[in-house]
Amino acid sequence: MSTTTVGILGGGQLGQMLGLAAIPLGIDCVFYDPSPEAPARTVGRHIAAAWNDLDALARFADMVDVVTFEFENVPTASLAAVAARKPVRPGLRSLEQTCDRIREKEFLRDAGVPVQPFAAVSTEADLAIALATVGTHGVLKTRSLGYDGKGQRVVRGAAELAPAWDALGRSPSIYEAFVPFDREVSVVATRALDGTSVVYPIVENLHTQGILFRSTAPAAVPDALARAAERHARQVLEGLGHVGTLALEMFVADGTLIANEIAPRVHNSGHWTIQGARTSQFENHMRAVAGLPLGDAGAPEPAAMVNLIGGLPPIGEILAIAGATAQFYGKSPRPGRKVGHINIVAPTREMLVQRLADAEHLARQHNQLA
Ligand code: AMP
Repeated sequence: MSTTTVGILGGGQLGQMLGLAAIPLGIDCVFYDPSPEAPARTVGRHIAAAWNDLDALARFADMVDVVTFEFENVPTASLAAVAARKPVRPGLRSLEQTCDRIREKEFLRDAGVPVQPFAAVSTEADLAIALATVGTHGVLKTRSLGYDGKGQRVVRGAAELAPAWDALGRSPSIYEAFVPFDREVSVVATRALDGTSVVYPIVENLHTQGILFRSTAPAAVPDALARAAERHARQVLEGLGHVGTLALEMFVADGTLIANEIAPRVHNSGHWTIQGARTSQFENHMRAVAGLPLGDAGAPEPAAMVNLIGGLPPIGEILAIAGATAQFYGKSPRPGRKVGHINIVAPTREMLVQRLADAEHLARQHNQLA
């Protein structure tokens, strides 16, 4: 059989880890990313051209058998140009239903996944309606292009909503109820071309200044809640007809789950699966995209990940921690930029907690947030 060549839109660290997972599967990767410094350039061929360069996109599509993405904000016209030439997996529906926060919440609600009250804010008149439907304690977010907590404002009283909307440049926004959560969790899952799917153990996430700092698997939640999270992940996979890996981020409040958002791609809260699960989220994504059977998403031991943000500790200090592995993305450090991560595995939860404390301490000494 001839080698499958997968085109990947985006060449950041997610692309790099997809490319690394592709190598033992005999899959070649071609990355499309405007930056000549794209981290994924070290693990495949790289086309450095603008997102709106339709000629370069056509050339890219002609080089590959199938296209996927690690970056979901690819302009619609660019995606359409690629989709006209080669299959795109996951399909455009996965992007359409998740690129706009209102459509995403409506999709989740219709798929049977619980969400908090929300309302669209597009005009001045919408402000009063939004307050009446959602309440006076909420979060105002731009409908598109927000990430890592950017493009959002917490509202703590009726008088704060209009100034918050001004601060977001009066962009089309969503106003959603503030969820007084006990924990933030996520579920990463992969669906194959034939519709079979695997779901990874539920993960607990800790954010610092809106950026993911730590993920721990499995999250310390009751079994019933873990099963509900798994069910919600499958509802999302099926509802989207998704092919590939995605992440569903949720809050746990009062012992129940409330969905926050979907990432229609491999996700930072699934990096622990590289050492922690029998098949990583990256490998399963590549298998799905190439039409191959999926691998076991089970995790033999407790595992965790700590993000390295804005600075890297000396590699030797990371590797001196028992059960630790390091992954550096080859990006030049800038405050607030994810430049690597540490994965930790341990035979018991108690040992994981100890090792994690050492890894977090080391990361904090070198991390620089914006
Ligand atoms: P997001 O960009 O939607 O992932 O939000 C970034 C972070 O802001 C989340 O991980 C939460 O910590 C917090 N957050 C977002 N939406 C809400 C909400 N409705 N209620 C409480 N906290 C929120």
